[in-house]
Amino acid sequence: MPTHTRRMVLSLLAAATAGVRLTAAGQAGRPAAGRVIRTLRGDIAPADLRGTVLFHEHLSMRFPLDAASHFTDDVPLMVDEARAAKADGLGLIVDGGHPDMHRRLDALVRITTESGLPVVGSGGFYMQRTYPPALETQSAEQIADGLVADAARERLGAFGEIGQQGGVLTATETKVLQAVAKASVRTGLPVFTHNPYLGLRPGAADIPHDAALRQLDVLEAAGAPPASLAIGHVCCLHDPKAAVAIAIAKRGAFVGFDRVTLALVPDADKVVAAMALIEAGHADRLLLSSDFASARSLRKNGGAGLAQTATVFAPLLLKAGLPQATLTRILTENPKRFLACTPRG
Ligand SMILES: [Zn+2]
Repeated sequence: MPTHTRRMVLSLLAAATAGVRLTAAGQAGRPAAGRVIRTLRGDIAPADLRGTVLFHEHLSMRFPLDAASHFTDDVPLMVDEARAAKADGLGLIVDGGHPDMHRRLDALVRITTESGLPVVGSGGFYMQRTYPPALETQSAEQIADGLVADAARERLGAFGEIGQQGGVLTATETKVLQAVAKASVRTGLPVFTHNPYLGLRPGAADIPHDAALRQLDVLEAAGAPPASLAIGHVCCLHDPKAAVAIAIAKRGAFVGFDRVTLALVPDADKVVAAMALIEAGHADRLLLSSDFASARSLRKNGGAGLAQTATVFAPLLLKAGLPQATLTRILTENPKRFLACTPRG
């Protein structure tokens, strides 16, 4: 392990053991003072949260979505994986699933309770093929009403991942993005998206390069402030000069490089694009995460585990010349700024 990597892992470990202080959840029905990160077990003041924060992972889901079983069905296994990630320096994970991806909230609650790793639960709908039929006839306002109710009932701390199936949004996908923007304004909760980018693979040519910007158009037009938005999977676009990432950052939204270690685009190419975004002056808009979805990545199977963003990908940025202080800010302060909100409703 190179010295700088060891130093980073040690500092992350120290941060993890410092722990976090949870404020009592919903005490006397009073809203928490100031901006907080709403986890399933309580609201956390950003200043009290130590360690790496990953804004798009999966602790409970089915993938492929019609699979009869999935490794995350084994909740005790995911508790072990969450414990190991905490020991690797993770301070918080946002789960990017919701019911139409077969995310089980009871599993998330058990994982966070038994591992002690704070977890943010998310709400929303994934993409056209996963939508419940009722969405076709409901208005954006009616869909937003349901999302606001879900968020209150389930103590959700974000809406995501909100996606699209093909290169162009369907009419219902557009309506769902509008509904999510309205629900975000009403609840104060942040939003993160899924993009269909495929790197340079067959079929990639069908995906317009500007798909991410079109999502941002719809969300902004429906009233969502860009600072509460993270446009996801931008690292799966083959864009070495980071033109799309820079355009998103210039509009004030966060840029999700949230499939690091996933081979759709080689990590070396992701590093080139991330460095281009940073060199253009937008380090404060970059969010890193790994969209954890592969059994091979489990600690149990010899993989790097849930902390792979910090332990496998982040060292590549240091090697490319990123200063440690900037990297630490990207792994901790950026996601905290994205997630911190004043929950309403
Ligand atoms: Zn995901």
